[in-house]
Amino acid sequence: MNTMTTGAFGTAVLDTVHDEVIVRSGRSNDRLVEPDVLDILSAEERKRFIAFRNPLRAAHFAGAHTEARRLLAGLLGCGPAEIRFGRHPCAGCGRTDHGRPYISRPRTRWEFSLSRSGPYWVCAATDGVRVGVDLEQVRPMDLSSRAPSILSSGERRHLDGVPVEFRAAEFIRCWTRKEAVVKASGIGIEAALGDIDVRPGQTRARVIHRAPGCAFDTWSVTDLRTHPGLYTAIAVPAFS
Ligand SMILES: [Zn+2]
Repeated sequence: MNTMTTGAFGTAVLDTVHDEVIVRSGRSNDRLVEPDVLDILSAEERKRFIAFRNPLRAAHFAGAHTEARRLLAGLLGCGPAEIRFGRHPCAGCGRTDHGRPYISRPRTRWEFSLSRSGPYWVCAATDGVRVGVDLEQVRPMDLSSRAPSILSSGERRHLDGVPVEFRAAEFIRCWTRKEAVVKASGIGIEAALGDIDVRPGQTRARVIHRAPGCAFDTWSVTDLRTHPGLYTAIAVPAFS
């Protein structure tokens, strides 16, 4: 099922990927066209909005967060402004400023993950299942400095087999898959990305990744098609 809606923040595509994962992605407008939508955001989100020096970035932030709230509100049966978010302790260091986000109000089993890159955003939601989503814009990249620490040996071999003009894009595709996995596992920025092999040869792959305090060590990782020039990946525990 695909439905397309056009709102104040640009285009949102609603797409059911797996049976159990709901994904919405879109492109935020470059300026706030209805300033009162800031009322949808929490006090903390409004503080972050105000702290942006660049009005373009502020508008993109507000667009993504507002649309994520609207998606979750529809699933939870509440108003978008009623939702409160918290963070689990980071699986790597225990801090709560960058751990896996969760919905603290209303009480719910629903889990979610949100990613932004420039004006683009993607939000995934699942009923009672961990989920991680990541989105990156394809851009030129110095692979010689970044690939060694981010790619596994198998991924580096895969990249060597890709025509040189497509390598930066393929690297970014691998990266989004890793980020989706580490976001689902809750370890975030401390993860040793080079230890995770996301099997880029398969669109949908089973990936091994262990994080402290996480009961799952095998993840189902899938590429999503969202917008041209973007790579998006989603990860959920692999149950079978
Ligand atoms: Zn941490």
